[in-house]
Amino acid sequence: METIFDISKSGRQSTFFPYLDWLSEDPESELDNGLIRSGKPGLPEVTQPDLVRHYVRLSKLNYGVDDGLYPLGSCTMKHNPKPNEDIARIEEFQGHHPLASYDLVQGNLRLSYELGQLLKKISGMDAITLQPSAGAHGELTGMLMIRKYHHENGQLDKRNKILLPDSSHGTNPASAAVAGFEAIEVKSNDQGTVDIDGLKEVADENTAGIMLTVPNTLGIFEKDILEVASIVHDVGGLCYFDGANLNAFLGKVKPGDLGMDITHFNLHKTFSTPHGGGGPGSGPVAVKENLEPYLPVPIVEKNNEEYQFGYDRPKSIGRVNSFPGAFGVLVKAYCYILALGDEGLKRVSENAVLNANYLKEKLQKVYTLAYKGSCKHEFVLNGGGLGEGVKTIDIAKRLLDYGYHPPTVYFPLIVQEALMIEPTETETKETLDSFFQAMVSIAQEAADDPELLHNAPTETPVGRLNETQAARNPILRWTNSGQS
Ligand SMILES: *Cc1c(COP(=O)(O)O)cnc(C)c1O
Repeated sequence: METIFDISKSGRQSTFFPYLDWLSEDPESELDNGLIRSGKPGLPEVTQPDLVRHYVRLSKLNYGVDDGLYPLGSCTMKHNPKPNEDIARIEEFQGHHPLASYDLVQGNLRLSYELGQLLKKISGMDAITLQPSAGAHGELTGMLMIRKYHHENGQLDKRNKILLPDSSHGTNPASAAVAGFEAIEVKSNDQGTVDIDGLKEVADENTAGIMLTVPNTLGIFEKDILEVASIVHDVGGLCYFDGANLNAFLGKVKPGDLGMDITHFNLHKTFSTPHGGGGPGSGPVAVKENLEPYLPVPIVEKNNEEYQFGYDRPKSIGRVNSFPGAFGVLVKAYCYILALGDEGLKRVSENAVLNANYLKEKLQKVYTLAYKGSCKHEFVLNGGGLGEGVKTIDIAKRLLDYGYHPPTVYFPLIVQEALMIEPTETETKETLDSFFQAMVSIAQEAADDPELLHNAPTETPVGRLNETQAARNPILRWTNSGQS
């Protein structure tokens, strides 16, 4: 495939600068010699039509939520309302400087403050920071606050363990480890939820806390969550609720009512920004009152109808971001929540759960369902064993030929040949039915012609890629010789 450099021809140009009559004939003569480089920068030289056509062609090779169903489990790749994008682009939102004086940006500060109030209400928590840039960043922020809490209580030396169910999201043990804790695994029972006896065995005076992904990565709600919380609290630990998948119970269940001390949101999943959309994310962290002193600085505060950043927080863990959050993502989340209101938010989660269960009921007639029973926003199938040597990866690759983005594969790790499907609430019954039909056809092909699946995809711009090679030996930079 051609890169923009391959179509470059010396002397071609797509941008034309206006003539500035106050400049001298030779603008370079106005610069110090030391500032002038010799030779041209190594940029591609193309005409404007070639430039436009190149990128339009590339954009058509890609697949996105605006092309069709994107059932990537755990990522909530749903349709996000376009008007919210327009609003985030309003000059006064997009063009303000993050260090502008407060009197110039009262409206923007107010929006941040009010979004915080809304998220506190949604999560049932007492205080919030909007700073973290991603879900994993929110988790790390939460873990650092747990450290600080035990430090203030003189217990950090002995409390060095974070308990993690084996069905938790992969970022959870990583965040605990980066914050300096030891990750201790808690096994799941045969219903796919935390094994209470197993939890009691590992919870002790060395426990700093537990991190629960809810619903867990099997798409199952932790029905014993109140008991889990009291076991951990009884030994002096704190409870962290990974709320990245709030889509499953928005407006229905509040982490704060379930005995949880800290939770993070993935605004770039649930609240009007796609996950992994190439832009910034946002992972606000909300806490109960006892952890409020440790929140990162600054916090947006309201004093006598004036909004400002509060820095006077002596026990804070410090900054976790260079600026107070990814503002464009905050604007979209604020619009989304206000536009839907209480009732609308409830319908989001009702439909997300309904769509997942509808598809699960249909698909389990053809594929093996990993854990029986009703699911929340997603469910996990075993994609193996449908034909000779046919694995989940073959099913996923064949789905590309049918025009669908594949589900999440080989995650969670506790299910063999995992195929994790999250249809989201924004899909119609017709779309779900067509996807089901594609999955049925692929199961049939697996039995009749396994080779077809091993070689898939064949209808896409590029065929089967060596993904290990792509991850281990990425060539990220173009050079003349075509090598990195
Ligand atoms: C997506 C996700 C995360 C991580 O969020 P990022 O923004 O990708 O860092 C954490 N936990 C769960 C349950 C998730 O689904």
